[in-house]
Amino acid sequence: MIIQMKKTATKKEFERIVEFLTSKGLRIVDASSENVTVFGILGDTSSIEPADLYAFDGVGEVTRVSTPFKKASRSFKKKDTIIKVNEHVSIGGDQFVVMAGPCSVESEEQLRTIAKGVKKSGAHLLRGGAYKPRTSPYAFQGLEIEGLKILRKIGDETGLAIVTEIPSADLLPVFEEYVDIIQVGARNMQNFHLLKALGKSKKPILLKRGLSSTIEEWLMSAEYIMAGGNENVILCERGIRTFEKYTRNTLDISAVLAVKELSHLPVIIDPSHAAGRWNMIEKLSLASLAVGAHGLIVEVHHDPEHALSDGAQSLKLNKFHHMMEELDKVAAVLEKTIR
Ligand code: PEP
Ligand code: MN
Repeated sequence: MIIQMKKTATKKEFERIVEFLTSKGLRIVDASSENVTVFGILGDTSSIEPADLYAFDGVGEVTRVSTPFKKASRSFKKKDTIIKVNEHVSIGGDQFVVMAGPCSVESEEQLRTIAKGVKKSGAHLLRGGAYKPRTSPYAFQGLEIEGLKILRKIGDETGLAIVTEIPSADLLPVFEEYVDIIQVGARNMQNFHLLKALGKSKKPILLKRGLSSTIEEWLMSAEYIMAGGNENVILCERGIRTFEKYTRNTLDISAVLAVKELSHLPVIIDPSHAAGRWNMIEKLSLASLAVGAHGLIVEVHHDPEHALSDGAQSLKLNKFHHMMEELDKVAAVLEKTIR
């Protein structure tokens, strides 16, 4: 961090902020000249919020030169993190991992039909919401614990690992019992109480980007989980809110490149919640593979017209199959593996 004092700053004001920073265990490197008082701060500045330093009289400009996240940062760990889900699936390496399934678990039969279909087409994990974060309290809220049991049962039947969203910290023991990857939904990305609880878990966490979150805020949320001791965090770009109304959200494909530069954590894409339209999913998925994402989470339904949630953005099983074939072709060119 670099601090430049105002031209009008007094020696006393300079000494006051220096005293404050050194009392925090930081070192000051004075780089002042005749015309300007400027100094660098050395040491771990992660607990200091640059904006708070403007509370000191005489402070002109505070500039952060390192990232506020540490454990999630590429400078902290150079090598990509690879998260092993089971014998066949690892996320963060050369394997492009596809998680597929319905928005909501609706019944055992529904999930079995979809799981068998996506497995046949080459999906690696089964997704499905048991606790649904709906905008309306009158919309289908999910089968809750019953949904988790169905997910586990069908996951075991098909040999697919399962990923599903946790709504709150009190349910963590139940999720640890039933689920392979715990998903944090976009609306909960900054539920710091939940993130801290997940820091104590050993399960991989799929952390979705918040509806209007910056990349830095997203990585700070990953930092919350990692700071608690759980370093198995998978980031998921799922579209952000912009002025554009044609799509449900705007897929920020460049976020994959930014995250890979800033962090060693794996990053996947959810084209379904980004586009909100099934007919865009295949092409956005190909773009995700091409841009270097480590995988996808996609909504698939055997009967989207009658889905209890997000039917409009769900691929039919034959469309998902076609998408997997197209992904195979792009993967071959990029020398990546899907299956
Ligand atoms: C979901 O995956 O079903 C979901 C609700 O996603 P998001 O949190 O990205 O809206
Ligand atoms: Mn959904």
